[in-house]
Amino acid sequence: MTADVTTTLPPVPAGSGATGLAELQARDITAWFGDRKVLDRVSLTMPAGGITALIGPSGCGKSTFLRILNRMHELVPSAQLAGEVLLDGEDIYDPAKRLIDARRSIGMVFQKPNPFPAMSIRENVLAGLKLTGTKADRSTKDELVESCLRKGGLWTEVKDRLDAPGGGLSGGQQQRLCIARSLAIKPRVLLMDEPCSALDPTSTRVIEETMLELAQEVTIVIVTHNMQQAARVSSECAFFLAAHGQPGVIVEHGETRAMFENPQDQRTSDYVHGRF
Ligand code: ADP
Ligand code: MG
Repeated sequence: MTADVTTTLPPVPAGSGATGLAELQARDITAWFGDRKVLDRVSLTMPAGGITALIGPSGCGKSTFLRILNRMHELVPSAQLAGEVLLDGEDIYDPAKRLIDARRSIGMVFQKPNPFPAMSIRENVLAGLKLTGTKADRSTKDELVESCLRKGGLWTEVKDRLDAPGGGLSGGQQQRLCIARSLAIKPRVLLMDEPCSALDPTSTRVIEETMLELAQEVTIVIVTHNMQQAARVSSECAFFLAAHGQPGVIVEHGETRAMFENPQDQRTSDYVHGRF
């Protein structure tokens, strides 16, 4: 699966779609790959302006759940799905709704930074606009590039070399460029699948600070294996688990501090304290 799903999307006019902080709600999500059920009746509310961390061992369905939240799951031919995903109460899977609106509203950042390496930093930020056919004049684009790079925490490091290739940046800078790129089409939700696991601790901290700033204007859902990171950045947390051979479920979810300090389920306690 590639990150560049927007390449297949039709053009939309600039400024379309709702704005403002949005709540994302997953209801009774069951997912299959072929005959194999990998998630079973997972429900989770990801509050507007919050940072929700999805934690749990490998293979329990966190990435699958995340991809269901922006309709990337359906790109896998064998994938099936039951349940609903509501963005501010509106079902993103409603057949009457356009796929492009779901994808524009709900951006994704992946584990491995994936800027377009030969494209300039500026072009990378604007790539989403081009792919979605959004029209903007030069000065609007300049402002957008600056504001997205500022929000991505990269502006001061790159403002004098916006025409340099994105591939020349360090790993941490590339990931922040990917965040800036995803912000250019003004998503209401940003999904991040282990965004720091390929990065050094310093870059990780910079991205965490960026996330905390971004949460003021976009709802964030992050998959992380780093419990300190979940504790540092998230307001809510959901613990996923798949018993041997069974589909993934949410064992426990709630406010992060409560879950870390006073978990209600022994398995949550074992996991957050590294005893898994
Ligand atoms: P996590 O992100 O928690 O590690 P995943 O969502 O990647 O878990 O995977 C959940 C389960 O679904 C795993 O058993 C995995 O092997 C399976 N799976 C993931 N992607 C696919 C796919 N494209 N085709 C078939 N099975 C898949
Ligand atoms: Mg994963």
